[in-house]
Amino acid sequence: MLFRSVALIGIGALLNPIHALADALHEEGAAPSTLPEVGDVIRTLYSGVHRAAHETRNRIDGLHQAAHEDPLTGVLNRRGFLAELSALPVNRRKGCIAVLDIDYFKRVNDLNGHEEGDRVLTAFAARVAALMRRADLIARWGGEEFAIFFQDCIEDEASWSLARVATRMREDPIGAIHGRPISFSAGVCRWTGGPIDEALARADEALYEAKQAGRDRICRAKPLLLQA
Ligand code: GH3
Ligand code: MG
Ligand code: MG
Repeated sequence: MLFRSVALIGIGALLNPIHALADALHEEGAAPSTLPEVGDVIRTLYSGVHRAAHETRNRIDGLHQAAHEDPLTGVLNRRGFLAELSALPVNRRKGCIAVLDIDYFKRVNDLNGHEEGDRVLTAFAARVAALMRRADLIARWGGEEFAIFFQDCIEDEASWSLARVATRMREDPIGAIHGRPISFSAGVCRWTGGPIDEALARADEALYEAKQAGRDRICRAKPLLLQA
């Protein structure tokens, strides 16, 4: 529906020079010498087409960005993350999936207000993004949960990467809860290109384990053979 509207706006803009010519032709008492030259009309038409195509492209890009980006933190949203993963060539659809969750985040809101909570979410996304590689994908999965795709990594590498983020969170806190640096827990699971839902569910189970074990830690998904 939205794309149809954008296309109609674009077509309307394309017709502007033709309307201008028709107006000139129908103008009462217009002398032949006041009519635009054919060359001028083509030039105007061409620049109209060019401008309309450019504006339509910008509108589509804006809509695409809004649909795939989390407006608060600027990282991908869930839809954007899944779209980027499925757009990867088959030989790049392997690595690790991690699910991260900020510990005791509700207390940030309760103790310091929702605005401070929003600031912490933004700072957390920026902190993670700054320590990841360009090829990795980071998304706000919802609330205070984030997902990462570590391209072409084994679990050891993904866990080290997350451990580096955890160390930075202690050395240079993005905020504090009851005087302690804000921390996160994470679950990591290897993904070799099968259904992504399965890898996400297993990473989520590992995250649950990390929470149960006391938070501020990274747990790996159990090997499939060990899962009953
Ligand atoms: P745990 O260590 O078990 O993860 O505890 P938690 O407090 O982090 O988790 P809980 O699920 O109890 O609370 C999450 C809170 O995140 C509740 C919700 O109000 C808050 N939240 C979700 N989205 C946003 C947001 O966009 N902005 C702010 N400020 N808070 C949010
Ligand atoms: Mg949560
Ligand atoms: Mg939490």
